[in-house]
Amino acid sequence: MSDLENLGTVCSSCPACKLAATRKNVVFGEGNSDAQLMIIGEGPGEEEDRTGRPFVGRAGQLLDQILAAVQIPRESIYIANIVKCRPPGNRNPETDEVASCEHWLLEQIQLIRPQIIVTLGNVPTQWATGTSLGITKTRGVWGEFKKLSSPIKIFPMFHPAYLLRNPVRTTGGPKWLTWQDIKTLKAELELLGTKPDIKLEVEQTTLF
Ligand code: SF4
Repeated sequence: MSDLENLGTVCSSCPACKLAATRKNVVFGEGNSDAQLMIIGEGPGEEEDRTGRPFVGRAGQLLDQILAAVQIPRESIYIANIVKCRPPGNRNPETDEVASCEHWLLEQIQLIRPQIIVTLGNVPTQWATGTSLGITKTRGVWGEFKKLSSPIKIFPMFHPAYLLRNPVRTTGGPKWLTWQDIKTLKAELELLGTKPDIKLEVEQTTLF
């Protein structure tokens, strides 16, 4: 068993915060343990809690479409959340819950050593960058993750759950901005050495 799998096994019985009392499953994270790209969301929702897998509900399906639009295979990346257990009613994780849970995520990042971290939405972006700015200000702006010994590039994007509530594709709308962001991300991944397998001049947002 790999160190990452071992960590997931230990995490699956974590009792460290009040979310343990209401969860069905710990949602540790999944994907390529050697990923260049790691995506960090806020917390598990109902479907994730039921299945124990991250980003498998409606927001997860939209995330898959966004990645597929620039040919980033989901199996090539690693996906986790800032808290591993579902906050009741899908509320945002609270400060004490994030503080109790962050060591799992830090250990995951340390083991995976991604070159880029994408944070989805306010909570993981503020945690990862230390900013108090909202996601409308921080999305699409490169930053640095400095919580470990070597800095890692951070690229904040809208959470797909936000896009489900605000599916505006016209210029300047949330889906249009996400289309710009995912192309920027793909271009950076290509610079870092992933396969140049997409023509980024394709200009349409109807892919998701
Ligand atoms: S949210 Fe994190 S710290 Fe809280 S019980 Fe779940 S795994 Fe443990």
